[in-house]
Amino acid sequence: MSLDHGFDPILFDLDGTVIDTVNLIRESHRHAVRTVLGREFSDERLVANVGRPLLEQMEAFSPPHADELYRVYREWNHAHTAELIAPYEGITPLLEQLTAAGRTLGLVTSKTRDAVDLAFASLPIGRYFGVVISAEDSTRHKPDPEPVRAALAGLGRTAEGGCYVGDSPFDIQAGQGAGVVTIAVTWGFFGRADLDAVRPDIVCETAAALGQVLLGTR
Ligand SMILES: [Mg+2]
Repeated sequence: MSLDHGFDPILFDLDGTVIDTVNLIRESHRHAVRTVLGREFSDERLVANVGRPLLEQMEAFSPPHADELYRVYREWNHAHTAELIAPYEGITPLLEQLTAAGRTLGLVTSKTRDAVDLAFASLPIGRYFGVVISAEDSTRHKPDPEPVRAALAGLGRTAEGGCYVGDSPFDIQAGQGAGVVTIAVTWGFFGRADLDAVRPDIVCETAAALGQVLLGTR
């Protein structure tokens, strides 16, 4: 399917792209760093590696304390998911619209399966996705292309006509490696400059703009 008709299949990142977990994740990091390391980091430093697997994010804070940070993070995060998770305006209707238009959707996240299930229990959007690739489903993780390739394989599709939509530079790099068109969205964890630096094919600043790109109606 050419760009004139939008994209199919359409792969999405989860956190910061489909669901607003910005507060949840930032505050989970803050709690873990404060509890385990007794330190206060800037918001920017707390979320600098969001999009990579959680244990790798904890290793970036403190290699010797990574396991303890991981445990404390997950305990706080899971206890506060229902309270702090939120939908992004316009995204659930867009998923509905894409599904109605016959597009095949998939999800590629670095979250573990239990955390994905917890998010879907609060925001019931799991049914839109024909495949969900979580941390357990690949040996390498974003920015490596393997999880994006796994999603395409799970859908029985190739990269042709496909795209990957994400809010982090790691998403864009993973999509580029897998050979799909990369679409960066600016409403998540990372700013425009961080995203432009990895040269996504397309940048969208609103759900409406994303919808036009994905359906080829712009
Ligand atoms: Mg993300």
